[in-house]
Amino acid sequence: MSEAHSRAVRMTRDLVRCTSVTPAEGGALALIESWLRPYGFEVHRPVFTEPGTPDVENLYARIGRGSPVLMFAGHTDVVPVGDEGAWTRPPFGAEIFDGVLWGRGACDMKAGVAAALAAVLDHLDAGGAIPGSIVFVITGDEEGPAVNGTVKLLQWAAARGERFDGCILGEPTNPIAMGDMMKIGRRGSLSFDLDVIGKQGHVAYQHLAKNPIDGLMRLMAALKATPLDAGTEHFLATNLEFTSVDVGNPARNVIPAAARVQGNIRFNDLWTSTTLGAELRRRLEGVNDAPDYRLTLHPTNAEAFLTAPGPFVELVSGAVRDVTGRTPELSTTGGTSDARFIQAYCPVIEFGTVGQTMHQVDERVSLSDIDQLTAVYRRAIERFFKA
Ligand SMILES: [Zn+2]
Repeated sequence: MSEAHSRAVRMTRDLVRCTSVTPAEGGALALIESWLRPYGFEVHRPVFTEPGTPDVENLYARIGRGSPVLMFAGHTDVVPVGDEGAWTRPPFGAEIFDGVLWGRGACDMKAGVAAALAAVLDHLDAGGAIPGSIVFVITGDEEGPAVNGTVKLLQWAAARGERFDGCILGEPTNPIAMGDMMKIGRRGSLSFDLDVIGKQGHVAYQHLAKNPIDGLMRLMAALKATPLDAGTEHFLATNLEFTSVDVGNPARNVIPAAARVQGNIRFNDLWTSTTLGAELRRRLEGVNDAPDYRLTLHPTNAEAFLTAPGPFVELVSGAVRDVTGRTPELSTTGGTSDARFIQAYCPVIEFGTVGQTMHQVDERVSLSDIDQLTAVYRRAIERFFKA
């Protein structure tokens, strides 16, 4: 370890060494609390529970009592390491070689959390004012069910009278280099099962049976017959993907009794999960000679949302431009994130590290990206409180 490393790099290293695979806290939140308390932050670590899901510890920290309130959000939990033998360096070693820090969670998103913490503490060390408040909303339940994390932490905070004016979430958003992209929204996600019920029988006596596969193919074709939409100004077109077709029939001379298809739809801001479910039913009901079927829509907590371009988007985009010299693309691509919960409380922007290795073996982040991200956050703090 070299003291030449910046505070953000040292914090990233210390966080990566915590084995905080969801739902384990792994010492990560305790570490953050120990960094914030000496600066006068009020720190809470509420544990949330729900039957059928693991208990999860979270962290809420605040400095200042006034408005406006800038929120930094993130998660310290990480996905499992997978095949540990396939890693070039130990996944929780946080080893630094040639300007790169290796380890699970390095880019998703312990660097993002560390950069936000370091930006605020560096700002305070430099005598910077906070004419308002800064809060940290850090969860240990983003990579898991996302039930006992940000969604409940924000409800808990709102019940205490906490209000927010803007949030930066440090998920990795840049495809190749810092300054490429920030996210101003996310698509929604809806999963479904479609079960078709036929009648089992001998393949040579097909008139005595009813093959569910024939009906299943007609229903699948109807679901995909026409595009759900052509996309919107800020979103890709809504996309339905079948993810599995299951009959489970080991016998070549038997017509099976039932068949099932599973799928998932990533949808844009033209839809809600409710209107989309109704559209699926409408398409299925229009099928001629339809078999007996049952459509099951899985409950979702992932609706599409957009933080419309405006002052807060411009503020963060400007901070990225000031530091990287590049204007980030405003994107809504990728999977879901905790931003979908935050958007109910205040405008939320996602900007973090380069995400090329997230969730992979040999996850890693470059030290210069960590330092650049810290500089972007610090610039955003300056812009936010000057406004
Ligand atoms: Zn993440």
